Amino acid sequence: MTIPFNRPVFVSESLKLIRDLVKSNKQINIAGDGYYCGLCEKLLAEKYNTPVLLTSSCTHALEMTAILCDIKPGDEVITPSYTFVSTVLPFESRGADIHFVDIDNLTGNLDLDNLKKIITKKTKVIITVHYAGNSTNMDELVKICKKNKIILIEDAAQAIGSKYNGKLLGTFGDLATLSFHETKNITSGEGGALIVNNKKFLDRAKIIREKGTNRSQFKEGLVDKYSWVDTGSSYILSDLNAAYLYPQLKILEKINKKRIKIVKMYKKFIKIKKPLYFIQTPKFNTFNGHLCALVCLNNKQRQDFISFMKDNGITTPFHYVSLHTSPYMAERNNNNLPGTDKLSECLVRLPLFYKLTKNEVKDVIYYVNKFFNE
Ligand SMILES: *Cc1c(COP(=O)(O)O)cnc(C)c1O
Repeated sequence: MTIPFNRPVFVSESLKLIRDLVKSNKQINIAGDGYYCGLCEKLLAEKYNTPVLLTSSCTHALEMTAILCDIKPGDEVITPSYTFVSTVLPFESRGADIHFVDIDNLTGNLDLDNLKKIITKKTKVIITVHYAGNSTNMDELVKICKKNKIILIEDAAQAIGSKYNGKLLGTFGDLATLSFHETKNITSGEGGALIVNNKKFLDRAKIIREKGTNRSQFKEGLVDKYSWVDTGSSYILSDLNAAYLYPQLKILEKINKKRIKIVKMYKKFIKIKKPLYFIQTPKFNTFNGHLCALVCLNNKQRQDFISFMKDNGITTPFHYVSLHTSPYMAERNNNNLPGTDKLSECLVRLPLFYKLTKNEVKDVIYYVNKFFNE
């Protein structure tokens, strides 16, 4: 028996759409910004009640946010250290002065008290990461950003379908990003999206995504030829990928429900004793079932756990090597981030995906309990 950590979502309707697309004699293309991209964007725009642009990855959507914020060398940007590289890379590579904010180690989300301490008059952008599909107190975060005229970006890579006080995560920031990487709740292989809540960014976002050209205005009939008008890159998603994604987007709720059910089973039947704990969902969040993680006593126990599970055929990876300790950043920053260090050293993830079977869930529960209770 082996149980992988993830199996990418696949629904059979995708194959039909891709087959039709490839065979089609209609003027349908398989390049970027095609027919299924349009359908996905329409569904997402209805869901988020604002324009959404499909991108080739969440990393690329985040890169677009850095361009849209006009990040210049020395601009002060605040972001968690406990996140994937992509949250920070687009800002760091434009010369931003990165300040890492700590997280609450019970939820993995931004610690507002720590944030208040490190904000300065020069802070230009805050990126909040909705870790595990949960969030920090968004009312308070939005208030802080408004008061200090700071641009708020939500890295909602893990949070599709999650809510804060009944409102979808991804609708609070000036801009927000989604990921359709194969490890996320729904996937196009590689892929992502930029949610444009602050409409002042919309026209330029469309240009930046299309290699700095006004091709989308041309397609909309607003100009009679298209030309190079700004900076940018190719951040559009191939229509083949969008055709893979579209059927999943239609059944997102069903997929999330299944994941939530698995997480509930894990939490109900896995017996761990304090000070060990599961990553928690705050009361103000409605969870999308993105991730189930438990926090070990220390790094040694985590290592032993991972090898024990591996010996029994079950993959339980950890993440993240915190960015402030990564080889690339370590020399520039030595902030004190205890919450970040705790999860970075002790957190481990359990297998969680749409087609995980009941028996597989039972096996995982059995071996986790065996390790911690025998
Ligand atoms: C997955 C992930 C990303 C990167 O997404 P890609 O689509 O692979 O570029 C960025 N941020 C967070 C928090 C993620 O979990």
